[in-house]
Parts: sequence; C-alpha cells; structure tokens
Amino acid sequence: MDKFFNDLKKFMIQESQEQKFNACEYFHTLHQHKDKLTELIHTYENHNCYFSYTVDNTDGYTDGVISIHFNNWQEGSYYYDIVLSSNQMWGGYCQCTPEDEGYNPIHDCCGLGCDYNAPSFNIKKISNVAGEDFTGHERDMWLLQEQWDKDMGIYKEDKNNAQIKEIEKQIASLQKRRVELQLFNS
Ligand SMILES: [Zn+2]
Repeated sequence: MDKFFNDLKKFMIQESQEQKFNACEYFHTLHQHKDKLTELIHTYENHNCYFSYTVDNTDGYTDGVISIHFNNWQEGSYYYDIVLSSNQMWGGYCQCTPEDEGYNPIHDCCGLGCDYNAPSFNIKKISNVAGEDFTGHERDMWLLQEQWDKDMGIYKEDKNNAQIKEIEKQIASLQKRRVELQLFNS
C-alpha cells in the first residue's frame, strides 16, 4: 500500500504542476478511503503498472482522470480510471468575520460549517471485453459496403413512405373536417 501511495503522490505532484487540479486534496481523499481501493492497490503493487492523467472532457464536471494501466497490455485486459470531482457540502452561507474563533484570513472563513466543495472520486474498472480485426480482404469490405448502401436506400424509402402515409391521413382528416364545416354553414 505504501508503494502505491508514494508513487501516486509523486505522480500527482508532477501532474498538478502543469494541470490545474488540487493534488493535495485529492490525494488525501483517496488515502482516507484506502480500504475501498484494496483491489486496485494490490493490482498496482503486484504488476508492472503506470499512471496517466487525462484533462477533464465533461465541460468542467470533473478535475480530470487518473488512469492506472498495465505496462504489458497482454497481462491485463482491464484498467482503472480514478475520476476526480467534487461534491457541494451544504453548511450555510459563509458569514465568518475576523473576530470569529479560528478565522483564516487567507480563505476569509473559519472553514467550519460553511458551504464548501469537498473533493471526491469515483473509481471505474474498465474491462477489455474483445478486440479483434476484420476477417477478410479489403474487397470483402467493399462488397459489404455495397449491400449496406442498398439497405440504406430501402431504409430511407420505407421511412419516406411512412411519412407520406401519415401526411395522407392528416389530409383525409382535414378534408373531412372541411366538409363538416361546409355542411354546418349551408
Ligand atoms: Zn465561513
């Protein structure tokens, strides 16, 4: 367990210098919940693994993802993603003043009982279920493509016909309504 956290700390310090995430907060959150990480830690410490970091791709919902991969892809058919994010803790709107006990001028808050964002994480184990290449020659794919395009044509035609039918139904219904109104007027 020590090796995992030592390596992770080094990695997070290094990454957070270039990327904008708070390595300290996330490191300690992970460490607090190390009991939930036993499988991941066991994998890391008994195999040749490495960390990588990916910046957020969810428009700001996360602080990025730390992944743990096997160096030898054959060895492991899975990898782990540690998604870094935060959860709003509702304490109350901050009304701290310098006179309050424990007031911290850097944060302009006592840091006790006020609203704040608690760092959190989600760990996903991603399995590689299958990875195969197309079996055959390139021209085999061309034939499949030809048939596919024909099928696409039929699909589009069916869709258009269904739409035409629906429009005809609407026309019939409107015509019926027109006749009813005309009868009423006469
Ligand atoms: Zn406060």
